[in-house]
Amino acid sequence: MLSDALPEIITDTLPGPKSAALIARREQAVPDAISCGYPVAMKRAAGAIIEDLDGNRFLDWIGGVGVLNIGHCHPEVVAAVKEQADKYFHGMFNVVTHEGYVKLAEKLNSMAPVRGAKKRTYFANSGAEADENAVKVAKAFTKRPNIIVFSGAFHGRTLLTMSMTAKKAYAKGMGPFPDGVYRAEFPYLYRRPAGMPKEAALPYYIGKLQEVFENASPAEYVAAIVVEPLQGEGGFIPAPIEWVKAVRKICDEHGILLIADEVQSGFCRTGRMFASDYWQDAGVQPDIIATAKSIAAGVPLSAIIARDEIMQSVPKGVIGGTFGGNALACAAALKTIEIMERDHLAERSVSMGRKVMARYEEWKQKYGVIGDVRGLGGMVGIEFVKDLSTKEPAPELTKAIIEENARHGLLVEGAGIYGNVIRFLAPLVMTNVQLEAGLRIFEQSIRKCIGYKEHIHANVGA
Ligand code: PLP
Repeated sequence: MLSDALPEIITDTLPGPKSAALIARREQAVPDAISCGYPVAMKRAAGAIIEDLDGNRFLDWIGGVGVLNIGHCHPEVVAAVKEQADKYFHGMFNVVTHEGYVKLAEKLNSMAPVRGAKKRTYFANSGAEADENAVKVAKAFTKRPNIIVFSGAFHGRTLLTMSMTAKKAYAKGMGPFPDGVYRAEFPYLYRRPAGMPKEAALPYYIGKLQEVFENASPAEYVAAIVVEPLQGEGGFIPAPIEWVKAVRKICDEHGILLIADEVQSGFCRTGRMFASDYWQDAGVQPDIIATAKSIAAGVPLSAIIARDEIMQSVPKGVIGGTFGGNALACAAALKTIEIMERDHLAERSVSMGRKVMARYEEWKQKYGVIGDVRGLGGMVGIEFVKDLSTKEPAPELTKAIIEENARHGLLVEGAGIYGNVIRFLAPLVMTNVQLEAGLRIFEQSIRKCIGYKEHIHANVGA
């Protein structure tokens, strides 16, 4: 079965001839701005394995960038989508009511750890749309114009979310941007100011947030603070729970809503259905959750969830859209969530993440190029540096390791503001044997790229 296969490269060159031909057509037909650094043209995929047009098999630790927590082509999700396709594809929700939309909203209302007894959910198509909608809803409720986002944040590529996203390389030449978006420093503890003890870091970062009220937007004009519970694109950096509690307190003091961007961290990725389930355990909840990616196993869908009084404050016609809550996507999501709960994928995420983290920690001790290993459940980042004491980022080494991994059939993706982090975002249905195979390839790539020689290292140690 393809889903149990191991990574294997059978062509002499990568991409192989058939894949190369399709990639060449892509290069003629599609803008270069939609860039792709991987030599892979898909033929089929199952679980954590992608087979390319030439028969090469790749172990996929990217999962469509966090979309495939349940794996490629889960047979039950495929069956659910086919069953829906036989009935109808689309029922625009401003025109007709279809049960999939209602049932999925009911399900998310019952699961999502947002504040409030009665909740409401509506759907959009992408993560950026979910974030943008969450901000619209927050503005409608608070009647305030501004929002606060963070350094390292990634929220998407629409005009508002380009403005919210920290990295301006993603927004080159696209201005002017919407006004009213202010930025505070995210608690990237590994890169806290040099010499600062860890205990001093949280007050420092909270102070930085408070400064926004002084220097940029008075608190009474702020509708929402938007937080990724674990920054994805920014470098797989978990928001420390004590910091989240302090942010919640600031929000409550000033009537500001707390939005959790769970686009990448949702749906079992971090070891819970939502990363903000951990917040709830610690006694805090977001007011709004925006989520997408793994919700529907690869069918485009995103969701915005908030309590009744927030959602009901939005005037008619201000939110919604043609495809939001499409029937095929809702059918896929309902089945995906059912399987995640039934097969305990959140627990699987925790055990997989533990294994990966333990191995990365071993490598950190051994190879001298890993500055930090961090994460939550099955969302794990490994940060490469040139020098452990100066923490100078090593983006060239990171890129070389990513390319070497791909040459041996392991797909991993970079992240981080310096491009020196590799993300673990593998499907949670990956087998243990596949996980071991991936770790073996990854370690070999590190060794090759740093020119590691076992015996030399042993002698130095002796
Ligand atoms: N928010 C976060 C945290 C993300 O990771 C992403 C995408 O990577 C987005 C928003 C944007 O999602 P999309 O690409 O579906 O618009």
